Amino acid sequence: MHRYAVCNLLTTLSYPPWTKGLDRVVYITRSGEEQFPFHAYVHPDDTCTDKSHHSATFWSFSRLPEEIQLHVLAICPASILFQLMHTCSKLRTEASKQFWAKADAYFPVEAHWLINKAYPGDSVWNMTFLAQVHSVEVDYSLVLNDRICMRQQDERVEIQSNLVDIFWASLQNRVPNVKRVIPNYNKGNTGREYGLDRIPLALRLLIEASPHGIESSVLFLERKQTSHPTTWRTATWRRCLLRRTEQALDRHHFDMGRNEPFSCPVASCTAYFSKSGQWTIHAAEEHYQEWKRLLESLPSSSVGAGLRERNQALDRKTREVQEQYKEMKDAWKTGDEARRGEIQRSWIEQLDNDAAWETEKKGTSELWNQFMEDVHTEHSST
Ligand SMILES: [Zn+2]
Repeated sequence: MHRYAVCNLLTTLSYPPWTKGLDRVVYITRSGEEQFPFHAYVHPDDTCTDKSHHSATFWSFSRLPEEIQLHVLAICPASILFQLMHTCSKLRTEASKQFWAKADAYFPVEAHWLINKAYPGDSVWNMTFLAQVHSVEVDYSLVLNDRICMRQQDERVEIQSNLVDIFWASLQNRVPNVKRVIPNYNKGNTGREYGLDRIPLALRLLIEASPHGIESSVLFLERKQTSHPTTWRTATWRRCLLRRTEQALDRHHFDMGRNEPFSCPVASCTAYFSKSGQWTIHAAEEHYQEWKRLLESLPSSSVGAGLRERNQALDRKTREVQEQYKEMKDAWKTGDEARRGEIQRSWIEQLDNDAAWETEKKGTSELWNQFMEDVHTEHSST
């Protein structure tokens, strides 16, 4: 079995043949990966909106031989299976089996939770839900490198193999049906190594210890070996827009039976695209930092106009946020101790009560620490 697999982020882009309309809503993590919330994953697809024939179709479906019914269920999208699980007693059991067995849906779990024995009180997940899951994406935290491979004062590394055992025991305990595990090692991964050298020893040890019957691989960001390294340090919302921009131009020339080769719209570039999908890869690899030019190059169709409008709205929002941030920094810098205490309390309190923010521990905030770092860096450089 291949225990390591290389997953390039390019594989997460949308390539032809395109089977759905251009998605206007993109769910993306702060590190730039697409990740669907559960409600979006089970939301019925737009292509299944013709309700007028549904009852007649279902009547015919129930008269089909059982093996054909099973075959149809096996090719149903997750959203249909999810609906059947809730509305159709006859098909509920089989639909449920197919829903959880979907090989392309991975449910995220945090590595540090598993290594801390996965107590239900330490997590926000529903344990009954986890018990059904077959495929897990483990959010690998860099802290685990030091915890599993403890560096001693004399620079020797002491392996904490008991933590590796706890990791797998916790996973099998909380996710008893787990068949596939992918630790995601994309966060903060900015080293200069290539290929498998990027994977830290601690993560290798975890994968090597994977129990029989569980297929394990690693998802990691591989830096392309070019003279101008790609940077992903663009704002998250900008990356969402870029991904739609790339796809919109590709589809404008090659979707719906069109076959209109075109040259790269970036003036200094001589690339030419004669097949669908070529532009998407080229834009992702070569022009990630030239989002403004890419937006200007979009056709003046409703899609192009919509994306440009969206970009302007994001520009306005960015300016607004920057102004608020500056006001907050000024208030901190000019405030006395009491005022500073008030700012910190209101900040932490808001984050602790806002479901959209993940404060790892009550009373602390990574966001607050970044703010402090920023204020102090600015202070010491002036
Ligand atoms: Zn180009």
